[in-house]
Amino acid sequence: MDFMLTDEQKLLRDTFREFCQKELTREYVRWLDENCDFPPEDLVEKLAALGFFGISIPEEYGGAGAGMFDFCVAAEELATSSVAVAISMGLTPAFGGRPIAELGTEEQKREHLPRIAEGKEKWCMALTEPAGGTDILGAIATTAERDGDEYVVNGSKMFISGAHVADYILLIAITDKGAKRSRGLSVFIVDARSPGITVNLIEKVGIHACGTTEIHFDEVRVPAGNLLGTENMGWYHILGTLNPERIGTSMLSLGIAKAAFNDALQYAKERVAFGKPIGQFQVIQHYLADIAIEIENARNLIYKCAWLCDAGERYDVEATMAKIVACRASEKAALYGMEIFGGYGFTMEYDMQRHFRDYKQMMFSPISDEMSKNYIAQSYGLPKSY
Ligand SMILES: Cc1cc2nc3c(=O)[nH]c(=O)nc-3n(C[C@H](O)[C@H](O)[C@H](O)COP(=O)(O)OP(=O)(O)OC[C@H]3O[C@@H](n4cnc5c(N)ncnc54)[C@H](O)[C@@H]3O)c2cc1C
Repeated sequence: MDFMLTDEQKLLRDTFREFCQKELTREYVRWLDENCDFPPEDLVEKLAALGFFGISIPEEYGGAGAGMFDFCVAAEELATSSVAVAISMGLTPAFGGRPIAELGTEEQKREHLPRIAEGKEKWCMALTEPAGGTDILGAIATTAERDGDEYVVNGSKMFISGAHVADYILLIAITDKGAKRSRGLSVFIVDARSPGITVNLIEKVGIHACGTTEIHFDEVRVPAGNLLGTENMGWYHILGTLNPERIGTSMLSLGIAKAAFNDALQYAKERVAFGKPIGQFQVIQHYLADIAIEIENARNLIYKCAWLCDAGERYDVEATMAKIVACRASEKAALYGMEIFGGYGFTMEYDMQRHFRDYKQMMFSPISDEMSKNYIAQSYGLPKSY
């Protein structure tokens, strides 16, 4: 086992760390949270110039040809500075780059991958429906019916991140109504500006700078050539996207935890009570030690998952565990962070309130802790509890 980053990975980390220090200043991140539903285009261009969108795209299509581990190295820096930037910038590699690289035809790869690597396409994924996200196979009702050389899409999707700015939607819809649900879904590349698509932003508690939307599809015509992978195998295809997504979302939670920890640590050294910095009180030290332990724990598990992913090993259970461990780290950091800040934590003057609002999204998206534990328990041979 080797816990050392390679020289290339150290360079990648340092490059993104310097970028974050320069571009994602505390003031800028606060401004994003208060004013934006997606990071501005100039930030997208700067990250594209840094190669962020192409990290995991094969070299022959204009990317760096690196794997999930390297992606995590860069994403950790972004997420620690701004989870909203990390999540919004991560949508395209996760829901455009990876599925097309894995499932796309040569034509689809040539059309999209170089543009994704250059930061010229934005993607989102539309899986969840108004009737439910956990029981997605039971809730899904959006259909794509074949009509000549096209599919006609009707239905609604709920809680879709980044659809308001997306160029393309990775859509999961029913293509065989008569089949068992897991054998009747397909994945499509949908031009987000197609007639019949309506996108509405949803007001939410946290991660403001990565807007979440509802999408309505009304007789939307999708060329048959935009089917991604094999018809009716969409459920199995999409698992190849959802498992890496769990690594990515674990990294987002880790970023929130680290940001909250850093703020709390600094405050504990500066704030004075009874003539001493509050960081001298044992209980405050224990709060910080507890957060630090969970951060280290989460970090190790996330990178193990990334390593398994790159090695072509199974990592679905580990990634589901990482999702929980990282969420718990962010929860502990935000809750203890609020304690350490006392009354100032409850004001809008400090960023702890933002960490406190942001961590909550990660608890149930893309998969809730409850469902994650069901999945983990089943992996040990226990029967389905639902
Ligand atoms: C801000 C945000 C961004 C999102 N972005 C996207 C996106 O980009 N694309 C996308 O497709 N989706 C997205 N989602 C959807 C997200 O994946 C779902 O919210 C999630 O899957 C949970 O589904 P639900 O909200 O419908 O809750 P429900 O499925 O209604 O669950 C409600 C509660 O019941 C519990 N529960 C349900 N079934 C069980 C069971 N069998 N055992 C134990 N407990 C159970 C759940 O754990 C949860 O606590 C996003 C959601 C949010 C809020």
